[in-house]
Amino acid sequence: MATGACGIDCSVCRLNLLGECSTCGSGKSIEGAKKRGAQERILGAPCPILACAIDNNVEFCPKDCDDFPCNNFRDKRYPFSEGYLNMQERRRQAPPPSLSPIGERVVVPGEYWHDLANSNMGEICRRAMAVQRSASSVILPFLNSSLLVDAEKREGYVDLAERWVLIDHPLTLLTALVYLLNATEAVPMDQMVGVQELKSSHFFQGPHKLKTGSVLKRYGNDPEGFKNAAMALGGQRVDLADLAFKFTVFPKIPIYYLLWNGDDEFPANLVVLFDKSIEKHLAADSIWGIVNLVSDLLVLGQGISPLIARG
Ligand code: SF4
Ligand code: SF4
Repeated sequence: MATGACGIDCSVCRLNLLGECSTCGSGKSIEGAKKRGAQERILGAPCPILACAIDNNVEFCPKDCDDFPCNNFRDKRYPFSEGYLNMQERRRQAPPPSLSPIGERVVVPGEYWHDLANSNMGEICRRAMAVQRSASSVILPFLNSSLLVDAEKREGYVDLAERWVLIDHPLTLLTALVYLLNATEAVPMDQMVGVQELKSSHFFQGPHKLKTGSVLKRYGNDPEGFKNAAMALGGQRVDLADLAFKFTVFPKIPIYYLLWNGDDEFPANLVVLFDKSIEKHLAADSIWGIVNLVSDLLVLGQGISPLIARG
């Protein structure tokens, strides 16, 4: 791997091609440790970024460290400009993208709000295992928190430390509305199935493939990070694979993320399983959206707080 802990790709550098500068490496690589040794020998001190990544068992700062961009980048102004670091900071604080399978921004259709506002809220709450708050709003358990869905204001809020905070994430609102409008009497069967066993399995191909690759890239070599991110979302440990968690996204929608660590022979692997009852409540596109949502929150590793509106 010719990428430095900081994220610089040495393999596309002319100095590296000329042999002027050796390949750096991740904070977990032999190349990184060798480079640190060479820097200490030749320069008298290591690159503070590389040293910090090695000491903290961080593979790549921009991907794996919650503190990026830290003062090791800011103070030394190397290897990235202030403008680049500011852009990273700003975009990391924004909610995750809300995109459809074809890459378009998700918009919550007005008729969903209309349908909810004109439904029998008591009946909706009974089927969805939600709690009616007023004639037009409900409280819906969501991961390790709750959503307040207000059909009159056409807004959603999330409970952050017992405070309702406005959500700025259309995909979360869309999945919540679809669940409220479509949840049936069925309850989870405690029988797990893979995507191939769903009746709508043909849907999950090409652009509709479940979004799990980003989670695998982030945590395939970092099971401890996966555990922390899963627990920040209220994941419950289940005794499967090398490390697995159950997420109760909505009361009748448990989903499971199973991680197998990589070794010299086999790469790391990640699989998502569903309760067999999921298709009694949700169509394929909503299942796709829910996995997208959970995967993005896992990659961000900060629980549900990335969903809120800032500023
Ligand atoms: S800044 Fe540090 S970590 Fe990045 S390539 Fe240079 S020596 Fe390696
Ligand atoms: S604290 Fe900074 S240098 Fe250290 S691992 Fe995190 S981002 Fe990299």
